[in-house]
Amino acid sequence: MTFGRLSAHLSEFFRRFDLDAVVGPGDPESAIADLVRAQLAGEPLPDTVWRREGGDWRPPDRTPRLLRDDELPLPDVTEIPYEAYDLLYADDTARFCGIPKRRELVVPVARGCPVNCAFCEIPGREGKAERRVPIPRIISYISEMADTMPFEYVSMYAPTFTLRKRWVHEFCDAYEASGIGIPWKCTTTLHHLDEELIRRMGAAGCIRISVGLETLEPAGHAALPRAKHVAEQRFRETADACRAAGIELNCFVILGLPGTSFAGVARTIEAVREIGGRVRPTIYTDFDDMRADMDEPTVASFNRQLFRPGEEPEDAARYYRVLFDPDAPVTAVHEVIPRRSRS
Ligand code: SF4
Repeated sequence: MTFGRLSAHLSEFFRRFDLDAVVGPGDPESAIADLVRAQLAGEPLPDTVWRREGGDWRPPDRTPRLLRDDELPLPDVTEIPYEAYDLLYADDTARFCGIPKRRELVVPVARGCPVNCAFCEIPGREGKAERRVPIPRIISYISEMADTMPFEYVSMYAPTFTLRKRWVHEFCDAYEASGIGIPWKCTTTLHHLDEELIRRMGAAGCIRISVGLETLEPAGHAALPRAKHVAEQRFRETADACRAAGIELNCFVILGLPGTSFAGVARTIEAVREIGGRVRPTIYTDFDDMRADMDEPTVASFNRQLFRPGEEPEDAARYYRVLFDPDAPVTAVHEVIPRRSRS
């Protein structure tokens, strides 16, 4: 069986492979547990997955059970090949979201997002209602992992980390009180930040906030939910608050968002650089255009790094120069993260 982002979004694509089952949207852990239970009991494949019956595929009759907050799993770090993992982020010109030269512990804090951007597959896969690991469990997990391996920063992996401000204040209190002291980063939207919150996060060890800025060009707002209609003034105020709190502002910028122009992209990137932020560009990708009968290279081109073959805009080369610019400024945020011995 397969599970994961593509299985969830385009389950029928996998019917061409020699598989017994494919997990669609929902929590894959529940579907996998259903399947294992059925196999152990000698029963047919469960109705929570796409399954092969005879020569035909049958779609799920229901979605797998959503895990409760206190059931959300946290990774076993001993299963992760960190020597290789570290290399993913070693070169910051590759523009991923990890921090170069420092080891990352990822904590999957939450699933689901109510912001519901049309270009994002998270609400469809994880739900629009957010679920969050309880704070005491997050703290004890980080503390235990920090004793297991020399992690140098923590990535609080939540679609919109500051969705509930009270939760973030409580988390910051608990993290400080724990004495763990490892710097951390998170992702959210500008709409879900304010000066007081940013100050609190900085005091509790936050060193980078990534935000889905997407564009400062008003013509692109029609393609974005209201929460992402960002005025440049608000963006600059948030940047000032981050600077004062010692936090790097990492801005996701979409190239080719409907309604926007190359000039608008260039202007958005210039504005981020003016405030000393980091730019993380990606190419607009409409996952709803994927079809189950597409060939593998076409499906693979829906990756936010490429325009679809045959559908490149006239000025694709200019966009690619921005996306893969080897001379783009690189982050210096690792310099504020103390090193830990790996021996
Ligand atoms: S705010 Fe972020 S996680 Fe939520 S739907 Fe939009 S892009 Fe996805």
